Parts: sequence; C-alpha cells; structure tokens
Amino acid sequence: MRNPVRVIPIECKFGPTSAYAYYIDSPEPALIDTGIASSASKEIEAVLEENDIQMKDIRWILLTHGHVDHLGGARAVWEKTGQQAKVVIPKKEARLLRNRSAHFEDYKELQGKYVDKTIQEKHITILTNDIGEGMEPDLEVVGGDQLSLGGNISITVVETPGHSIGSVTYILDKLEWAFAADAIQMYGGAKSGIPAIEQPALYRKSLQYLLEKICPKRLYLGHHFRDGNGDIVGPLVDQDEVISALQSSLEMDAKLTDLVARHLSVDIQSKNSSGLYGPFESIANEIGYSGDPRNLPCAFLVTMYAYQEELNATFKK
Ligand SMILES: [Zn+2]
Repeated sequence: MRNPVRVIPIECKFGPTSAYAYYIDSPEPALIDTGIASSASKEIEAVLEENDIQMKDIRWILLTHGHVDHLGGARAVWEKTGQQAKVVIPKKEARLLRNRSAHFEDYKELQGKYVDKTIQEKHITILTNDIGEGMEPDLEVVGGDQLSLGGNISITVVETPGHSIGSVTYILDKLEWAFAADAIQMYGGAKSGIPAIEQPALYRKSLQYLLEKICPKRLYLGHHFRDGNGDIVGPLVDQDEVISALQSSLEMDAKLTDLVARHLSVDIQSKNSSGLYGPFESIANEIGYSGDPRNLPCAFLVTMYAYQEELNATFKK
C-alpha cells in the first residue's frame, strides 16, 4: 500500500517498566490501549500535542485486554475526549472496565496468593492508584467484529486469548498490521525473562492462529520484550521478524510445558512452598531466574501457576 496509515506509539510509564498505547491517524482517530490512570495527562496528551493532535478529536478507545497497564487510563482518556469517544473492550474482559474491584479479585487469585499480607497491601495500593474509575463500555467485541475508522480505514477483531482470558488483537485491514499488545510475549516476556501467560492452551492456539491464518505484516506490541538471545526488541516488529517473534513465543511455551512437567509431576503439596518462588523454586534455579516476585507485576508466579494448572488437568483426564 502506498499510503500507510500513520501510527504514533506512546510509551506510558508503569512502575519500573512501561506499556504502549497507539494513536491511529484516521478520519475517526483511534487510541489503542490507554496506559494507567495517570497516563492520559502525563504521556498520552503530551505526545499527541507534540504531533498537533488534540485529545478531544479521538473517536475510538480500543482496549486489547483488561490488565491495568492497558485499561487503567480508559476513563481519564474518555473524559479528555469530552466523553464522546466510543470505548471498546473484548466481551470477556468488560467486567474489568465496569468494576474496579474485579482487578483485586483477579490479583488475589494470581500473584497475590504467593506473597505475604504486607506485600499484598502494597500491591493493592499500587493497583488502586493505577486502575482509574470504572465505566460502561460502548461496545463489547468478539472475533470477526469490524469497526470503521472512517474513509477506507477499518479494523477487524481477532480473538487471541492466553496472556489473559479475553485478549484480542486489532487488525488494521488491508495493511495487515496487528495491534496484538500482550497476546504475543516473545521468548522472554516483557523484559523479565518469563512471558506472562494466564491460559497456556489458549495462548498456544492463538499464536498458531496468528502464524498460520492471519500472517500479519507488522506487530504493534504492548511492551518491550526479550527475544531468544535475551535482546530487548519491540514494541514494533516488522515483516520478516514477525514470523520469528511468533515462533520464539511458541518455543518458550514448549520449554515452559517441559519444565513444569519435569519439576512438578510430583504432588505439588510436597514441594517446599516457603521460599521466594513458592513451589517453583527448583524451576527458578534451573533457568537461572532471579526476578523478585514481590514486585508488581511478576510474570513468573502467574505463568508457573497457569502451567501447573494445565499439568494438573492432564493428570485428571
Ligand atoms: Zn497484559
């Protein structure tokens, strides 16, 4: 295509790391993801102003999933559009936009259960600051839905769950650019060395679907990620590198499945759970993982728990 659509990446600070939002310059301008509650006035407005774009002109707020670093700023961005942008979220994660307390429930089910009360309280305070106020979405999307951004620019929704239960990828039609955010974690996840995967079987399926059926020409990801060499790449992955990004994500999935099967095939209750990495201590030792799960977010615990659940389900069959 001779006239590609202009996309402006906006890096939004999130604790010691960052998450990306993307402005799509179209007759009905769209913002994909919104950072945390403070990102609207801190980074998003500033970057758009540098590009002579006003927040009030945004017509669409498209959320890829419900994690706080992507959805936390939704309400604040919407307010800055004069409450006129349409807010869109995957159907399966709409509860996280409506109801702030849903984030705390999810936290307690995942990372929260591996840390002590003091750390839990610290995390809840961070989440409370970052989530932003709840709101009603205008549209809850599912796979195959199409949205017109005006002119001949449109977006198709592809369901890519796994990183979270309802993650979607927004495909800019014709150009075949995929706004996948966190649906693709590369080999080493967002810098930490471990991808963040809540549903391994769905994650695997989504990667294969993107690789075999969608074949995007470009990826816009939610973070900087680590590739198989430990180098930091993204958030934009172009052309030839798209296939290797998807393949390396699948390689890591296979590695995690193998690791968990070897270390946790014994009764998990008999594993020492008191250390920093709970029942996953021996896995951390084998892969040389030294991240601190008392930091938020910690992909290690969330992902290990998910692969362990998958393994348990296979035993029960
Ligand atoms: Zn996420």
